[in-house]
Amino acid sequence: MNKKLYYAVVLIWTAVMIMGLLLDNPRLGGFDLGYILHSVLAIILFTCLWLYPKYRNHSFRIVIIIMASTFLYTVFFLYPGAWSTFIFLCLIPAISILFFDSKLFHFSLILNALLIIGTFSYIIGMDQSNQFSHIKGDLAGDAVNFIGSQVIIYLIYHVSYERIKKQQLYYEQLQHSERLKTTGQLAAAVAHEIRNPLTVVKGFLQLYSEKDCPVNKDIRETFTLMIDELNTAEEVISQFLTIAKPDKDKKLEIVNVHNVLQSVTDLLKSYGLLRDNKIDLQVDEDCYICANNIEYKQLMINIIKNALEASKIGDSVIVKAKSKNQFVEMKVIDYGDGMSEEEIKPLGTPFYSLKSNGTGLGLMICYHIIEKYNGSIDFQSSKGQGTTVTICFPSKNCELIQID
Ligand code: ADP
Ligand code: MG
Repeated sequence: MNKKLYYAVVLIWTAVMIMGLLLDNPRLGGFDLGYILHSVLAIILFTCLWLYPKYRNHSFRIVIIIMASTFLYTVFFLYPGAWSTFIFLCLIPAISILFFDSKLFHFSLILNALLIIGTFSYIIGMDQSNQFSHIKGDLAGDAVNFIGSQVIIYLIYHVSYERIKKQQLYYEQLQHSERLKTTGQLAAAVAHEIRNPLTVVKGFLQLYSEKDCPVNKDIRETFTLMIDELNTAEEVISQFLTIAKPDKDKKLEIVNVHNVLQSVTDLLKSYGLLRDNKIDLQVDEDCYICANNIEYKQLMINIIKNALEASKIGDSVIVKAKSKNQFVEMKVIDYGDGMSEEEIKPLGTPFYSLKSNGTGLGLMICYHIIEKYNGSIDFQSSKGQGTTVTICFPSKNCELIQID
């Protein structure tokens, strides 16, 4: 809560406490121990409330709720004739709403329930001189009123807490995406500048690694290693740059899923053959979606490449696609390593990779593309059994997709 607003609430509360002490108080005048206790508790409570902004922690909030309860219950017992003090007892949990602390709220709700049970038991059993006749006269009614007030306070708290939480989450997400955007742009600029010197270094290394070059054989062998590392660096940079490329360069078109998947399979065939993996294509002819051809290709290459990399030697990867009502559903199935639930959760996070030579950028790009075209992606996987990736795209409704 805003500090000014907090102090205003505290001042109003203090004014009410002072009025309670001075206006028409039956214990005022003479040396009344009850009145002194009332005043002392009011001062302690005021001090706690005033100091709170300096010591903003959960323990201090608990102290405030205990002090407020002690004060209000003491007032209730000191002035048995004033039936209105009962209203304040009902309102004690509402104080904790001020502090937006869920644990504190539940604590004050439970504490108040226990104190009211004690109070009612005292009134039924020990109040022989009928000091609390107004309560005793309608005990059931008062109990119902008390429960009702606690339920209403709980509902108010619950609804406002949920709303504030949602707003907070929205605000955090907004901040997060802004930060990502800026760092993305920065990374793209840096990546672009690094690519040129990398190409030069790689070119020279390739030249020196040729057999007829007068370089020591042992040293020449390390060149292959260096070139490999440079290739990885280049791949990371290219992946980064595809995301950072402005959307206006990517035109929206009707994509023939069958044709694209056929060309992706042709492209990855040789990659699969390295470990004797085949790609089994089972795609219907009539599947059309609205996206950018290159991006869709990029998406499927990443998913199928992952499936091939996870597969055991000699296993096949199945790629299916079919039209389903308003959607085109694609499945990439492999019988390889699989993933546990914990491993599935972070998929799509930049640099999350369980491979020794992975970049952890492939799925981030896939998620980015899928989100852009209002699609969805789902991973069904079990460790050691394999993975089924299901991707859904709306079929061919170009006018429904708006790219900023
Ligand atoms: P990279 O392939 O460079 O590691 P990706 O973003 O493409 O990065 O994938 C991230 C991680 O997700 C991979 O390292 C792998 O552990 C896991 N993964 C993705 N697809 C599969 C799959 N079909 N089977 C098992 N693990 C997978
Ligand atoms: Mg990958």
